[in-house]
Amino acid sequence: MQPKTPLVWNPILRQYLVNAPHRMNRREGIVTCPFCADITEGIVSPDTQVWIHPNDFPPLQPPVGEAYVVIYHRDHQRTFTQLSVKEVTAVAHVWRDLYIDLASRYPTVMIFENSGESIGQTQHHPHGQTFGVSVIPPILERELETVLQETAAGRGCPFCRVRAELEGEVYEVAANTTWQAFLPPYARYPYETHLYPRRHIANLAGMQENELRDCAELLLRVVRGYNALFDGAMAPMPYLMGIHQLADERFHLHVEILAIGRAPGKLKYAASAESLWGIWTNDSSPALKAQELREAIVKGGK
Ligand SMILES: [Zn+2]
Ligand SMILES: [Zn+2]
Ligand SMILES: [Zn+2]
Repeated sequence: MQPKTPLVWNPILRQYLVNAPHRMNRREGIVTCPFCADITEGIVSPDTQVWIHPNDFPPLQPPVGEAYVVIYHRDHQRTFTQLSVKEVTAVAHVWRDLYIDLASRYPTVMIFENSGESIGQTQHHPHGQTFGVSVIPPILERELETVLQETAAGRGCPFCRVRAELEGEVYEVAANTTWQAFLPPYARYPYETHLYPRRHIANLAGMQENELRDCAELLLRVVRGYNALFDGAMAPMPYLMGIHQLADERFHLHVEILAIGRAPGKLKYAASAESLWGIWTNDSSPALKAQELREAIVKGGK
């Protein structure tokens, strides 16, 4: 029996999961690129850099959700780290436009990227994804609960506090005028990196031009830093990157990058403790990994 909606409620964990059996047949490693086809078929002009492509196998459809692909560059061979700050800034502008559009219909806008074949990237063309979703996913809900508790207790925004506490500390890996990047002491993955805007901003709609540019600049520097670890022995670092944001003005937008590599040639898997209980084991010292990454970012920043 097919469920009526792809959002299936788990009454035990009290959270939704997406059931999308039609996605089993999506193309993997096929020869013709559906994003290059947008140009050859005249859907977008050949000089377009960034564009939005509807997800051909959407896990969610209206009214429960919408799914899109954001193409970062017309050049199929280009990788994210080969983009310029200006080009990534153009991508960030499209993220902001998409956020504004989808937030008018959905409480959650998930902007993310799965980078690397080992974690399920099926198309090589540089791209990321965006979902509008009619429910708030468990991790965002948990973060929002923290914000509401701390605000009610008169302690203000927990993200602002963490950012200030880690500023200039051993956990900071890079920073610029409006953003700060750190490897938190509570990192789940050895090279997990969080990027916070210095100003309290709930979502992309409130982000100014210089903040979008600085976000692009810092993202590029961090990912290039991953690829410079151990003289390039971990490149290209597979990672999951996502922007956490909400319409609630008490929330504080941030970017989380779960870098999957843990050492040259080795990946960190969400194994039993993580998957069956939700308790993460990080077998490395975040302060030490932050130092490695900080040095690699200096090297990788050309
Ligand atoms: Zn392509
Ligand atoms: Zn804040
Ligand atoms: Zn978060």
